[in-house]
Amino acid sequence: MPRQDPMLHYILILGEEAVMLIMMKAHATAAEVEEVCRKIEEMGFRAHPIPGALRTAIGITGNRGPVEATALEALPGVAECVPVSKPYKLVGRELREDSTIVDLGDGVQIGGLELAIIAGPCAVESREQAFTIARAVHATGARLFRGGAYKPRTSPYSFQGMGEEGLRILADVRAEFGLKIVTEAVDHENLELVERYTDVIQIGARNMQNFSLLKRAGKSRLPVLLKRGISATLDELLMAAEYILAEGNYRVILCERGVRTFADHTRNTLDLSAIPAVQRLSHLPILVDPSHGTGRREKVLPLSRAAVAVGADGLIIEVHHKPDEALSDGNQSILPSQLEVLMNEIRQIAAVLGRRVAGGDEQGKL
Ligand code: PEP
Ligand code: MN
Repeated sequence: MPRQDPMLHYILILGEEAVMLIMMKAHATAAEVEEVCRKIEEMGFRAHPIPGALRTAIGITGNRGPVEATALEALPGVAECVPVSKPYKLVGRELREDSTIVDLGDGVQIGGLELAIIAGPCAVESREQAFTIARAVHATGARLFRGGAYKPRTSPYSFQGMGEEGLRILADVRAEFGLKIVTEAVDHENLELVERYTDVIQIGARNMQNFSLLKRAGKSRLPVLLKRGISATLDELLMAAEYILAEGNYRVILCERGVRTFADHTRNTLDLSAIPAVQRLSHLPILVDPSHGTGRREKVLPLSRAAVAVGADGLIIEVHHKPDEALSDGNQSILPSQLEVLMNEIRQIAAVLGRRVAGGDEQGKL
């Protein structure tokens, strides 16, 4: 029931004038909240207490210049004073301290301690191709399967995807292997169809600022995997996510997939520094796509290791059993045997960070 989420209370007060938020401690008493409000009013501002799921926030509005935060910070029950400076409200950590965990059911989560590994072909090419790859992906312990049924290609003459037939194949993969499905919706109308089949709607780099698509995704009951645009700043990425949350869908997963630079040793430059930067700014989970991020098969493993080490919440990886025959992105697709190696290696790296990767030896023996 996203529209009843307590976070929506925040929006009401975050008009132009909102200057600061006081976050109360989880166990702050009503009297402590009242005292903070009294103090704010005494300083000549307006106080807006906003009860949240876990704790109360108090919005401060008014145009009497900067708020003297130290006086408020010292009051009993106050956890912190946060200036509301960022243009994004709902995706910001200012409003939600705890990281968001997107729950897909059946024990599959994105943003929790277990890393989400999404693997599969760039595009669904045939039933046989999808099932062959899905069988291998499933065997490695990955719990999510990717595959485009609609492909946004640079050239109109390139393979555009199998369309609805591809979606049906993906649904059959889910039924057969219990893998959760991630597939891309390329436009507003198309999203309607995609959401009938998939578990997670992917919005691709080229569509990161397709605002009608973002708004439609915001009305969906399904989680959205939002990829960073090829030349998007982090603020632009977060504002794009804000569009989805503003419509009531809080289940958004961000994805760093490389940006365009002068480098010519890779297809894109995978900006791993974006991961801690986004995590500081936003409570949303963030994945890394080392396939599009490098464009080269041999670079997928090293960048996957680095992505896990830097703190990503998971990976989305292109896998193909015959990459030389792939209809799209064969150069960056790894073989199933390489995915197995990758999973084993990141399992060990994840353990260092107190995180897990499904599959392997569940007892934790490496
Ligand atoms: C893809 O995942 O196959 C894809 C097209 O990704 P991106 O939008 O990041 O280019
Ligand atoms: Mn691709």
